[in-house]
Amino acid sequence: MTKLRKTNYHTHTMRCNHAVGLDEDYVKSALRAGYTELGFSEHGPWNYASGYVSHMRLSPESTDEYLQSIRALAQKYKDGITIKIGLESEYFPEHMSWLRELVAQKQIDYVLFGNHFYPDDETGPYYGNGTTNVAMLRSYHDSALKGMQDPLYAYFAHPDLFMRSYPKFDENARSVSRSICQAAKQLGVLLEYNLAGALYNHENGVECYPHRSFWEIAAEEGCTAILGVDAHDNDHIEDETYREEGLALLKELGIPVTDTISFLTDADLHK
Ligand SMILES: [Zn+2]
Ligand SMILES: [Zn+2]
Repeated sequence: MTKLRKTNYHTHTMRCNHAVGLDEDYVKSALRAGYTELGFSEHGPWNYASGYVSHMRLSPESTDEYLQSIRALAQKYKDGITIKIGLESEYFPEHMSWLRELVAQKQIDYVLFGNHFYPDDETGPYYGNGTTNVAMLRSYHDSALKGMQDPLYAYFAHPDLFMRSYPKFDENARSVSRSICQAAKQLGVLLEYNLAGALYNHENGVECYPHRSFWEIAAEEGCTAILGVDAHDNDHIEDETYREEGLALLKELGIPVTDTISFLTDADLHK
């Protein structure tokens, strides 16, 4: 196996109101940590019909400033690192054509699928703390499958997010994980091994996500993984602990790991 390049496509900025560090600090951290490619994936905006304002993501109005800032950094640091610009977005069925249009118009390189809410965050609970029963687990599963079927997304971020609130890895969690992993394999969707989750597990002495049992199923189903820092603090990019630990687990389970995603072309956006 050729050596893995150090890449990370899951990076936030202060614009989501729950991250710290200047955009440039993230780039400097990536350079210090030896990354060759860094992708920013701020929580993507949505066009709520009601005028609802989400405080954990870009607004449609702040999107241009985000793009300008990251593109300026890409230019400034082009000799040291490749910088890509993306979004981390949910699958909100009513709003997908709006998102597609935004991505095409603004020439965004890629979109990560973060299955945080469904059918949107105005009406649906956050799966990270709301997956406390089987009905919500089913809802997580169903929206995960819908999102995975959409070729807009570069990969499925923290596919085992439900384990942040689902009480234990029981038979239901097992069957949902099996179904998600089978779909990922069949559709060729990469599954992200999320390093922010690993940090959360460590800090809280718990096993939420990444959850070993989920990844054992991913191994059995022949899935491919990609590491994502999910940085909400530029220091997270420089922390090797969870990256090394994750690579060791994936190796132990025999899960192939890629360092590469596909970037969107105009043709993808008109599918
Ligand atoms: Zn976030
Ligand atoms: Zn994220």
